[in-house]
Amino acid sequence: MIPLPAPKQDVLDRRDVIVAGLRRLVSAEAVIAEPLRLKPYETDGLAIYRQPPLAVVLPETTEQVAAVLRFCHANGVRVVPRGAGTSLSGGALPLADSVVIGLARMNRILDIDFADRLAVVQAGVTNLAITGAVADRGFFYAPDPSSQLACMIGGNVNMNSGGAHCLKYGVTANNLLGLRVVTIEGEVLDIGGTHLDAAGYDWLGLLTGSEGMLAVVTEVTVRILRAAEGQRAMPAGFASNEVAGACVAAIIGSGIIPVALEFMDRPAIHACEAFAQANYPLDAEAMLIIEVEGCTAEQDALLGKLADICREFGATSLRVAATAEESAAIWKGRKGAFGAVGRISPDYFCMDGTIPTSKLPETLHRIGAMADAAGLGVCNIFHAGDGNLHPLIMFDANNPEQFARAEELGSDILKLCVEMGGCLTGEHGVGIEKRDLMGVQFSDIDLDQQRRIKSAFDPEWLLNPAKVFPLLATA
Ligand SMILES: Cc1cc2nc3c(=O)[nH]c(=O)nc-3n(C[C@H](O)[C@H](O)[C@H](O)COP(=O)(O)OP(=O)(O)OC[C@H]3O[C@@H](n4cnc5c(N)ncnc54)[C@H](O)[C@@H]3O)c2cc1C
Repeated sequence: MIPLPAPKQDVLDRRDVIVAGLRRLVSAEAVIAEPLRLKPYETDGLAIYRQPPLAVVLPETTEQVAAVLRFCHANGVRVVPRGAGTSLSGGALPLADSVVIGLARMNRILDIDFADRLAVVQAGVTNLAITGAVADRGFFYAPDPSSQLACMIGGNVNMNSGGAHCLKYGVTANNLLGLRVVTIEGEVLDIGGTHLDAAGYDWLGLLTGSEGMLAVVTEVTVRILRAAEGQRAMPAGFASNEVAGACVAAIIGSGIIPVALEFMDRPAIHACEAFAQANYPLDAEAMLIIEVEGCTAEQDALLGKLADICREFGATSLRVAATAEESAAIWKGRKGAFGAVGRISPDYFCMDGTIPTSKLPETLHRIGAMADAAGLGVCNIFHAGDGNLHPLIMFDANNPEQFARAEELGSDILKLCVEMGGCLTGEHGVGIEKRDLMGVQFSDIDLDQQRRIKSAFDPEWLLNPAKVFPLLATA
């Protein structure tokens, strides 16, 4: 189990006073302190770790966020920001003495400007709601985490989230223009602006992916893009994970950038087909979902070239979705993949490492061998075009010995990603999950410099302090 820092006893002793103070700042109804009502906040998408907070505050405005942060800062209270709580790395896991600041009520779209191709939204607007608000004019917001129905843009910014269609359009960092944030001292800062390349230091780059440790995001200005004329998906079956991995490297190496290039291995194909009925190739050991977009002629030309590359790698099946319904079923299976694995295993850890695409065949082979040696099942479902792996390690948390083996296998897989020239996280962040592996990726000098940035924003380490950095630094 991952250790959390000891709670500050003086804060626990002042619990009632702190709750009463928070209620004066927002409203009584917007502060949750009853044990039963705190339950939904005790965990996030990494549900294996649980810790109820001291209280939850649900502000509706930037001013309320600022007042809450000023109050917590003055009272030495730790704060954990939270969007929808879908983090798979435990980023929103509370501490026993912390106040969770939940952004879910800040869910208004403030401005849409088609001429400047941007939308200004509050931090609690869901990812999918942004596209929903601009789709009737033929626009969309590009990053599309599979959790996009639930996860919020403030969480996306703090995890620098990606998704299936980020291969072509980039991740959250590539689709942001500006932020309104509040520091732990309660100061409101406007960062970036309404156009690319804002003046001054790249604060936007620094804040993006900062995992709720530097400031609380209250408003986000995102780029919206004109949607392509159409798109078509092509599932392709292969005889092994390694061959499918080699095909991915060949596609990227050919210079074609599909709008999505996703990978599923045999267990994933079967688990997803069972609920999506997407006509996946059940006899294949691995499948790629390759999607292209553009006008019909462009799609046809790209699909033809991609099919040729797949055939060179002995594709056992190739099928182009003929209708919008077929395409939707193909993506329903892929986007619901993590949930589908929940149907075949009591628990799973979703790992998230990135490697150079040329290393896919060797890495997949070694992950298979490591899983066999650990006696655990692993399901691979991932954003192959970006080299962003998601091995799902299946286990039963009620079996402590199996739980420990799953944790160890997870660490070994992430270390392998670093050994392959990649990194510990592709899109899910470090959170609590990879915190104690940071030394595998970074030297002490690197980590010290990163801690200095944290200290510059938050000298007392009150904002989401137990995440990202190995625990000793925060104790
Ligand atoms: C089924 C499933 C599929 C997923 N698929 C993908 C995927 O394809 N791609 C991907 O990248 N991720 C994916 N994720 C992970 C997750 O959805 C993303 O990390 C997402 O961005 C988290 O958003 P959230 O609103 O749930 O944030 P939370 O989980 O609530 O918080 C995430 C982190 O951001 C911080 N935070 C949240 N809001 C704010 C704020 N306003 N200000 C400051 N800090 C804040 C929190 O403290 C925490 O550190 C998936 C998760 C699930 C459960």
